Amino acid sequence: MGRIETFLGKELFNFLFSPAVFFSLLFLGRAVFFTTLEMVRPARKVSYRSVIWNDLVACGLYIFVVIPAARYLSRFVPGYHPFPASVSHLPLALRVALYFILADFGHYWVHRLHHTRYFWQMHKWHHSPTYMYWLGGVRATIPQQFMVNVPYILAYPFVDISPWWMGLAIAVSSTVQNDWMHMNVTWRSNWLEWVFVTPRYHHIHHSDNPQHYTVNMANLLTVWDRLFGTYINPDKVDGKLSFGIGEQQNPVRLVLGI
Ligand SMILES: [Zn+2]
Ligand SMILES: [Zn+2]
Repeated sequence: MGRIETFLGKELFNFLFSPAVFFSLLFLGRAVFFTTLEMVRPARKVSYRSVIWNDLVACGLYIFVVIPAARYLSRFVPGYHPFPASVSHLPLALRVALYFILADFGHYWVHRLHHTRYFWQMHKWHHSPTYMYWLGGVRATIPQQFMVNVPYILAYPFVDISPWWMGLAIAVSSTVQNDWMHMNVTWRSNWLEWVFVTPRYHHIHHSDNPQHYTVNMANLLTVWDRLFGTYINPDKVDGKLSFGIGEQQNPVRLVLGI
């Protein structure tokens, strides 16, 4: 903390890194950055004006209800044990990489579970928007978020002994990555998709075409889809996708995931 705090001064540091200010500034930065990208290379026409209020409400629910509730429930996740001391001797960069790989592997399987008959109800809200842009992927129900958190909690010992900003960096990266995978931008990059989920890759997962319901389920790394048979090459998919769950749902049940 020392160097940044000295550079900014204690008062400015405390102000900027208070959660309300930090995450408000982050939201502003995300809005400017992703909206600019979407204006430069939009994949589809999106009427921001007609959807933004819905998404701001969903975003507010996510920040002030879903995250705290899921975090509270996460305390009851069994199995959090510090890893053997030898793990803490690995270089930080390697531990961070292992954390993301392991957690993302778990996230993939939780997501697959959400697309089964028994868990689909708790994931429907995420798939309900009939449009895609950076804020369109903010919906997650409490049970969904709780389940998604589990692999991250189990992998967390990899980064347990880290600089003070690591938890913050992980929170920022997962937020920005969620914006990225939903943003309304055409991105043709096969080499990037060989490793990472891109917007067009994830948009196919949101398609209302039944053939796409259980494909491209990965969150960060596309390798899981190729390994476990849920991969569709975006080059082979018609770009004219439409989105949504194709049915009217009771909004309260949708938001609660029950
Ligand atoms: Zn899904
Ligand atoms: Zn999504």
